[in-house]
Amino acid sequence: MAASPAAASEAAVHRPKKLDLAGAAAMLVLLPVLVYYATICVMHYEGSLVLPSSGAEVREFAGYVEAPTLTSIAIFGGWFGFQALCQILLPGRWQEGSELEDGSRLSYRLNGWLTLWVTAAVLGGAALLGWIPAGALYDEFGPLLSTVNIFTYLLCGYLYVLGLRTRPREASSGSKLYDYFMGRSLNPRTGRFDWKFFCESRPSLIGWVALDFALAAVQYDLHGHLSWPMILVCAFQLLYVADCFFHEEAMLSQFDFVHERFGWMLAWGDLAWVPFMYSLQALYLVQHADDLPVWAMVGIAILNLAGYYLFRSSNIQKHRFRADPERPIWGRKPEYIRTARGSLLLVSGWWGVGRHMNYLGDLMMALAWCLLTGFDHPLPYFYVAYLAILLVHREHRDSKGCAEKYGADWDTYCTKVRWRILPGVY
Ligand code: NDP
Repeated sequence: MAASPAAASEAAVHRPKKLDLAGAAAMLVLLPVLVYYATICVMHYEGSLVLPSSGAEVREFAGYVEAPTLTSIAIFGGWFGFQALCQILLPGRWQEGSELEDGSRLSYRLNGWLTLWVTAAVLGGAALLGWIPAGALYDEFGPLLSTVNIFTYLLCGYLYVLGLRTRPREASSGSKLYDYFMGRSLNPRTGRFDWKFFCESRPSLIGWVALDFALAAVQYDLHGHLSWPMILVCAFQLLYVADCFFHEEAMLSQFDFVHERFGWMLAWGDLAWVPFMYSLQALYLVQHADDLPVWAMVGIAILNLAGYYLFRSSNIQKHRFRADPERPIWGRKPEYIRTARGSLLLVSGWWGVGRHMNYLGDLMMALAWCLLTGFDHPLPYFYVAYLAILLVHREHRDSKGCAEKYGADWDTYCTKVRWRILPGVY
């Protein structure tokens, strides 16, 4: 007899050990502290890694943590509401997501590309007409960060309750804290509004580039010109985000989207971590408006474009191969392994050079963005260091999952394609 969806979900849910619970509790507190720390260091200490030692220094540092203001609440409320309205109202084709445990599939309206440009037109138009002061986001940066943090804790409380009310109810991990942290449901929805799909891209990715451009406007106001590093950071990061929306369908098959429940970890990552930490280079460049030598900027631009090419072409090779395994790659019929489960593992193109050349491309772009901030301070390099740890860890988790899924076929693939991310090194 087939297991019921609830029973299947019961079996799949992770039962946290004491260490998992301690880790979740620590992250709920320490991750927001890390964002406050990094942004305060960049805004108020020129990007130095400050370690306040005396009581007075600690008090001075802590004084930069600001409570929400009416303005910050209005900015965030308006932003979140506007993005939600775009998701609900703008046209876009409907696409089914991956198969769920009960065999059904959820539908998603893909209007992210249109939303990005509608947002750019609305915000750009309002800024040019003087309706939004250029420095508004920068002046409210501290209060905004607090507003987003508080909002996310509350939103996740709502998502937790929503998970309890949804039928059929998904299994609990056995711990309320862990359920709050990791999520109570895979795809929490209010009516047809999908919280995971919305938060994963709209307020987060579009918020990130909106913040970049607002910070560029502040640099212009402060120094009377835009530096080339600021222009390039904004352009490169806009390219990255626009690319995500151009291939929005691919998001529906990403690991976290398919397998991870939507709780504090993902929601806070989307709403606070991505916009505030990924824009750290632009935040740093507000006060550091010097240009780099032309040769350095040309080199950085080449690194970014090469990284983008690798990232995009390797992802698209796999995507197209899955749709049509006979489609030529680099002018030849692709080589692949037919696994016992029936799936095919590509051994041609980038997937024959390394197992995750897409991660390498991502890292090259991250390095290019950080290099634009020069070498005076380490904090703007946080992003590339963080991404390297994240992707190495992700590669290990993915490899473990594939080894379990494909068994000996995965071993054959790994023998044929030895390198994980960086050919010749790792
Ligand atoms: P991948 O797109 O590399 O997908 C991995 C999956 O692809 C495997 O689980 C397996 O799934 C399948 N696969 C692996 N090898 C092969 C092969 N040789 N042939 C065919 N299928 C294969 O990983 P991610 O979803 O982690 O990443 C997607 C993109 O998102 C990457 O470019 C990454 O850099 C980026 N990313 C960016 C982040 C950021 O914060 N900037 C964070 C995370 C990701 P199966 O066989 O089950 O289909």
